[in-house]
Amino acid sequence: MRCPLCTVSCSVLGLSAFAATAVVLLAAAPQQEKKEWGVHDMNRPQPAMVDAGAHGKAPSDAIVLFDGKSLEKWTGNKDTAAWDIKDGYFQVKAGSGNIRTREGFGSCQFHIEWMVPETCKCESQHGCNSGLFFMDRYELQILGSNPNKTYPDGMAGAMYGQYPPLVNACRPNGQWNSYDVVFHAPKFNADGSLAKAGTMTVMFNGVLVQDHSEIWGATAHAAKAKYSAHEPKLPIGLQDHGDPLCFRNVWLRPLAD
Ligand code: MG
Repeated sequence: MRCPLCTVSCSVLGLSAFAATAVVLLAAAPQQEKKEWGVHDMNRPQPAMVDAGAHGKAPSDAIVLFDGKSLEKWTGNKDTAAWDIKDGYFQVKAGSGNIRTREGFGSCQFHIEWMVPETCKCESQHGCNSGLFFMDRYELQILGSNPNKTYPDGMAGAMYGQYPPLVNACRPNGQWNSYDVVFHAPKFNADGSLAKAGTMTVMFNGVLVQDHSEIWGATAHAAKAKYSAHEPKLPIGLQDHGDPLCFRNVWLRPLAD
């Protein structure tokens, strides 16, 4: 759905809808106890064994959000996410609205693969646009960017309106891209003021494009982002910007802060 308010991107769109979504608490993955240990202390707990899986597969302790067959872990304007499921991937159904996870998440390691169909024509923010929203409001831009000239803080790998990617690692339309993100949720004081900014570290097709970048606030279009306090866990969203982008292999690992 194209934003009536802006001509180039509709990152604003969906934020209000996302924000209304209920929070579901999720237990964080096991983490090492936070305490001081001596160097090389053999009593220090061993990290949990995780099967990293074959390339393209989720690690054994991941929460798989799309297994190639079902969008049951996602919801949309209606209870069921209305996007199309194809052969092992799903695709934006233009005009059906953004989708979001049923569960809420805070800090996490997140993996997604996305592809702009070869038939799409990218013209700046039009034709190849989607977006990945952490906590309903912090967008990592998804945009066909090889080739496609647009404002740098709105291209693929950009934290929309905040930071361009360090480099453009986007593959041409018709090829799959991957994002591997370490997202740390912001923290708020009891009075609603910001205690600690959130951050994103992003590997784009294995290339570092965001290096622990501090989030300025909730993504806004053509405006400086600002924080407003929110719940510690909120859904992850994908944007329907009217373009038929495809997604597969979506998983995350919750992180303790
Ligand atoms: Mg977008």
